[in-house]
Amino acid sequence: MTVSTPVPFTADDYRARMERAARTAAEAGLAGLLVAPGPDLVWLTGYAPTATTERLTLLVLVPGRDPVLVVPALEAPDAAKATGAPALTLRDWTDGKDPYAATADLLRGPAGGREASFGISDNAWAMHLLALQKALPTTSYASLTEALPMLRAVKNPAELDLLAAAGAAADATFEEIRGVAFGGRRESDVAADLAGLLRRFGHSQVDFTIVASGPNGANPHHEVGDRRIERGDMVVLDFGGLKDGYGSDTSRTVHVGEPTDEERRVHNLVREAQEAGFAAVRPGVACQEVDRAARAVIADAGYGEYFIHRTGHGIGVTTHEPPYMIEGEEQPLVPGMCFSVEPGVYLPGRFGVRIEDIVTVTATGGRRLNDTTREMVIVD
Ligand code: ZN
Ligand code: ZN
Ligand code: ZN
Repeated sequence: MTVSTPVPFTADDYRARMERAARTAAEAGLAGLLVAPGPDLVWLTGYAPTATTERLTLLVLVPGRDPVLVVPALEAPDAAKATGAPALTLRDWTDGKDPYAATADLLRGPAGGREASFGISDNAWAMHLLALQKALPTTSYASLTEALPMLRAVKNPAELDLLAAAGAAADATFEEIRGVAFGGRRESDVAADLAGLLRRFGHSQVDFTIVASGPNGANPHHEVGDRRIERGDMVVLDFGGLKDGYGSDTSRTVHVGEPTDEERRVHNLVREAQEAGFAAVRPGVACQEVDRAARAVIADAGYGEYFIHRTGHGIGVTTHEPPYMIEGEEQPLVPGMCFSVEPGVYLPGRFGVRIEDIVTVTATGGRRLNDTTREMVIVD
């Protein structure tokens, strides 16, 4: 069952986003932005082509000019139905014509003949970028994520509502999954349960359903396998996807039957680290301080070498995006940012523990968008 509610954004919202993006690009010294199908295009226009193909689709944002969407003629009718379409000029092209020459015309001028640098979506196809470079040898290109990492980072109230609803659906999924049988079933069985529950609670897209039992839990990237879950296993659960266009991502670590003292101790440690990371969240604090706060708890307990990834990542129309909670990221937190706080401890060959909530920055601190218990849950 797919539950979908209308996206609460209007053409004016998309127009404002495109204007802000063009302005931000100019402030960053860019002549404009080239946006390929994917999360940036969805966020800027509401348009998601059903298939991304070798035919060029590209949003061209140049400060001071109207936004133009270059689109294959056969897809133009669909593009015209996008909520943001009234804020755009559609420039369609037919098979057999060279879309790059026409697009190059849109890029000419803003730098007055000097070399112009454009930000381009990270997921743009290399063949499109290479053809543009050939058509306009005086242009250079920068990764949009590197040039404007905070473009989508600060969420408005409608976006926060959607993220909170996605988080509540993920929480409802955890409340159900803790009641299913773990012992004796395969990781892949529990993963299928998770995917079914996420969809039942309104997700239209499931991005990941990690079920990492026993020694598999020591690999943060372990997704799911055929291992049969045994009594005595720790099981890391990490799941999420998109509900009404916005992401969820939460982790809890459960135990099958009674845990050992060490398992309790490590779980408690990760819980305290997660709490410390959350407590560090407030406006003006650098992203790296969230990482440091969580990491210090684990390092002080002697487990520093077993916390082998960053503490968090942003979330929005994708489940992983800037800002990153990582040493060296000095970007200050701003009210409306949303990101994960997900420290973990991974003991090779034995077990792992990770606890993850999505957190949003408020005027005075942080607010969790996941709120199931962070105590260790014992499952059957
Ligand atoms: Zn155990
Ligand atoms: Zn996760
Ligand atoms: Zn995450």
